[in-house]
Amino acid sequence: MVQSAIGIDLGGTNLKGIIIDRDGKGRHLTRMPTGAEKGGTHVMENILSLIDTLIEKEGTTDTILGVGIGTPGFVSEKGIVDGAENLPGWKGTHLYEPVKEKFGLNTIGANDATVAALAEARFGAGRGVRNMVLLTLGTGIGGGIIVDHKLFTGTFGMAAELGHIIVETGGIPCNCGLDGCVERYSSATGHVTLAKKYAEETPAGSDTPFTLFAKNSPEKLSSKTIYDYVEQGDPVALRVHETASEMLGRLIGIICNTLSPDLIILGGGVMKSGKIITDAVARYASQNCWPMIWEKCRLEIARLSEDAGVLGAGAMVFDTFGNK
Ligand SMILES: [Zn+2]
Repeated sequence: MVQSAIGIDLGGTNLKGIIIDRDGKGRHLTRMPTGAEKGGTHVMENILSLIDTLIEKEGTTDTILGVGIGTPGFVSEKGIVDGAENLPGWKGTHLYEPVKEKFGLNTIGANDATVAALAEARFGAGRGVRNMVLLTLGTGIGGGIIVDHKLFTGTFGMAAELGHIIVETGGIPCNCGLDGCVERYSSATGHVTLAKKYAEETPAGSDTPFTLFAKNSPEKLSSKTIYDYVEQGDPVALRVHETASEMLGRLIGIICNTLSPDLIILGGGVMKSGKIITDAVARYASQNCWPMIWEKCRLEIARLSEDAGVLGAGAMVFDTFGNK
């Protein structure tokens, strides 16, 4: 009997679900609104309804090994959500019991960025790689660590908060309470912060096309618009790019000297600008890492884009319940 897994990806706005086989082949991809504004209980009801829809499309639960859920925040060993401040009322939610009660299926949950790393390891740029780290550069920076082919979540499900590693002492304040976290510089939000800062520092007489854009239409600043100017060679946009890349290089230096991974993968919306970022980041990483270690580490762009969440959530099911 071919076994399948249900993968659920919980986002702030949308809830996604899929049924996958062990090789990552998916079917019945379904989306619905998360409904976060109505609180945690409502979100859990929506998850159950999504699982119900997937089972209905599949026509049976007999072949389904379990449910994997990628969520913001952390998931304890018992399946209780912690953190996840961006989803009001979600903290403290029990993920496993309601699914078991309603469908008789086992559930495993983990942080969404962590889960995406497992997807890249099984089905994407990290296929067959023993030790790797994924950095997802979006609104913030999420991380996932694979050690000896397995997802490393730590005893409390809180490992791989790589976006909050400090790369500049006394740097830009972060909403986690620390100062100088890498996500304040190298995420999409970080790019906009740097762009505003550098534009303000540019006196009117020295304005470039980019600083004029940043001063006149700050609401239009995004990684995408900033990198449009980087590609045109605008010196102030390039300064944003260099700072963001240097900070990410420092983070990668710390990761490499700690874990000596075979591969670091950069993913998330920011990576739509692609090679220009990996080239600069590799340059700075080499200055922040012990050369012998850096020589052995590859730097690549993620391959799975927005489906990484559901695929990784499904992959967790095979890893957790596959041999039982
Ligand atoms: Zn932080």
